[in-house]
Amino acid sequence: MAISAIKGMNDILPGDVETWQFLEQKVREVFGTYGFNEIRTPVAEKTELFCRSIGETTDIVEKEMYTFLDKSEKNSLTLRPEGTAPVMRSFIQNRLHALDPVNKLYYMGPMFRYERPQKGRYRQFHQIGAEVIGVENPMIDAQLLAMLHHYFCEIGIEAVQLQINSLGCPACRPAYRQVLISYLESRLDNLCGDCQRRYQTNPLRVLDCKVSSCKESTTDAPSVLDHLCGECEEHFDAVKRHLCTLDIPFVVNARMVRGLDYYVRTTFELVTDQLGSQNAVAAGGRYDGLVESLDGPALPGIGFAIGVERLVLMKGEAKVPARRPDLFIATMGQEAADKAFVLMSQLQRTGIRAEMDYQGKSLKAQMRRANKLAARYSLVLGEQELQSGEADLKDMDQSTQQKIVLSELVDLMGKLRASA
Ligand code: ATP
Ligand code: MG
Repeated sequence: MAISAIKGMNDILPGDVETWQFLEQKVREVFGTYGFNEIRTPVAEKTELFCRSIGETTDIVEKEMYTFLDKSEKNSLTLRPEGTAPVMRSFIQNRLHALDPVNKLYYMGPMFRYERPQKGRYRQFHQIGAEVIGVENPMIDAQLLAMLHHYFCEIGIEAVQLQINSLGCPACRPAYRQVLISYLESRLDNLCGDCQRRYQTNPLRVLDCKVSSCKESTTDAPSVLDHLCGECEEHFDAVKRHLCTLDIPFVVNARMVRGLDYYVRTTFELVTDQLGSQNAVAAGGRYDGLVESLDGPALPGIGFAIGVERLVLMKGEAKVPARRPDLFIATMGQEAADKAFVLMSQLQRTGIRAEMDYQGKSLKAQMRRANKLAARYSLVLGEQELQSGEADLKDMDQSTQQKIVLSELVDLMGKLRASA
């Protein structure tokens, strides 16, 4: 039996890959404009990195990681479930803070989580992420969100809502956590099994639970926003003010908590109603203590990650079309094929996408293929054309043709493409 791919891990085929390339190209353009540089880290890291940063009681570390011992049977490795921890590990290891007090980095690549595969949720999926390390000023929170908003405008996805919240900091969150635990204690019977288990270890997660009984029984839960310390409140107010100044639309969602332990203060999600229960297209927040907790310098940080598969699903019908050939050269006879082969190679050298037939097909079959590939122009080369040095260049879109001199074909195609 033929071998198939691993469940939850997908191929990205021609026809779809053009959309991926478009999304990636726009990342380079937009993120580049905001001064971000790309960083590439390995897909596997020491398991410890994720346990220490993401948190032992999170869904990711508790049940979603691809963890294995390598051949030495001494090293526990994990396929990265997210991008922030590896970027911080690299940042510290390579002492990037010594080169520049402010680091703006972005990454794109596959992430791995052992989840139940379904629409918008896979075991290998891709994230586009950005991180700013070294700035505490709430202006950078707003700037990062402005960049995210700008990116979504550029890629033509508008059906998203920006939700923001503040999760407080180590000074104010413990007190809120206690208030929440007491509140949950009186409603334990109505909570799902997961929440009954985690209300002590990770009570904020209960607010985020998708189970309806958990939602219903916590509608009047105390709000984290009523328990922020003065500094966190000031920070959150400033973020909202800057977003308003920049005309970035948002709503405050006091129940939004993120599934990773390292978040403090500003957190946010871009949500859509187009993807069923997989409603978050992008998410992120501030992680001021993270770099220090990984034995790096005490520098603040903030970042986000976009789920690329979910972007592609949202693009739906508006997928980016495959690139069409500029010219298809159809041939009759071996001599014409030899000539076409040289012409095609010359054209390709100048950046013109030229195609021909290699299989000795009939002229009719070759023209069918030219049509199928949606070639912009076509040209038939036979004995007569070789002798006269002239041929008819057919404009396949307009159904018109013009006589051309074969020796001028490369120049002419260059001009036609430039004016297209
Ligand atoms: P969700 O609530 O959907 O599980 P999450 O909170 O686990 O998301 P993050 O860790 O914040 O997600 O990752 C950021 C983004 O990556 C998500 O908003 C989503 O678009 C995407 N993402 C996360 N997990 C998956 C997955 N298994 N398959 C596809 N995309 C994913
Ligand atoms: Mg998840």
